[in-house]
Amino acid sequence: MKIARVDTIPLAIPHDHGGPAPAWGGRAWSALNILLVRVEADDGTVGWGEAFSYNCMPAVRAMVDATVAPVVTGRDATDIAALMRELQQAMHLFGRYGITIFALSAIDIALWDLAAKRAGMPLGRLLGGPATPPLIPGYASLLKYRDPELVAEKVREALDEGYPAIKLHETEEPEVAAARAAMGEGVPLCVDTNCPWTPAEAREMAARLAPYDLHWLEEPIFPPEDFDTLAHLQHESGIDLACGENACTAFEFRNMLDAGAVRYAQPSVTKVGGVTEFRKVEALAEARGVTVMPHSPYFGPGWLATLQLLAAMPLTGRPGGSWTERFYTRLEATLYPDFVSPVEGGRFRVPTGPGLGAEPDPDVIRDYRVGD
Ligand SMILES: [Mg+2]
Repeated sequence: MKIARVDTIPLAIPHDHGGPAPAWGGRAWSALNILLVRVEADDGTVGWGEAFSYNCMPAVRAMVDATVAPVVTGRDATDIAALMRELQQAMHLFGRYGITIFALSAIDIALWDLAAKRAGMPLGRLLGGPATPPLIPGYASLLKYRDPELVAEKVREALDEGYPAIKLHETEEPEVAAARAAMGEGVPLCVDTNCPWTPAEAREMAARLAPYDLHWLEEPIFPPEDFDTLAHLQHESGIDLACGENACTAFEFRNMLDAGAVRYAQPSVTKVGGVTEFRKVEALAEARGVTVMPHSPYFGPGWLATLQLLAAMPLTGRPGGSWTERFYTRLEATLYPDFVSPVEGGRFRVPTGPGLGAEPDPDVIRDYRVGD
């Protein structure tokens, strides 16, 4: 089975999280960007991938279209590990982290979709998961509000919907205090800061946030790859740290884990190098007693790939097991309407069709396509 063609399909789907418009990359971010990558094999089978592309979709798309697609077209679609190794090596001079690997992540996810379709089973099963996948525990990942009252309101809303754990994207004590007060004690509260602080600022903030019993503190310092400083902070503060959404490839995770930087590793399947690299990170983390908590604030094939990966992890659904991250926002439309909302207790169904388990809705692709 050879790769016959590769197409990119950029989507922008409006969403509403009930607060001020978020910003990424220095610009407002008013719609969810999903860069679909469609890989067609010479037998007509189609695999779907997704590349991370918040506010960088044109660059990632160009990387796939102009640089990766011409190299993979005509290659054996089933020889995934060797092909991905070759692509990483051939393209290392364009940057080992960031847009190059985002593009390769999408190709890898699409090839695994094709492989599981060829095997006639869902990807989680192909990866060694059970015939009947478990429901996947999820946490509500609230976007930025910068308003304690609004944070408290959204926390209560998410808990009422059944989510067993909450994550904030906030950097100030009043919002964290408001969330804890709204939740009461005993409900896991995570705080994602997105790399705002110097090491000294992070030490001070960790001390101020200590009374709120954080389940984890995420990406507290800039730059995120300063693993030695993260390790010191985790040790000194006694607060478990989470990091990894900005790490690409298993090699960067090896450095993070060897430094003892985190209690929770957060590979992102659309950024780390796809299913292939994600699985390597899983093995590294398991060998060090670190829990994988996937970064998954997206709703395209990357979301389904994350559910399938979680379905194949032995502790999913058990105490100490992994959770999926569900961006707490309402989308105007979704590619997979049956699988993006929790069914009970903040838990998600894993689609059981062949490949990623479900096909993207062609009407949504038609209606929310942007650009050419
Ligand atoms: Mg994060």
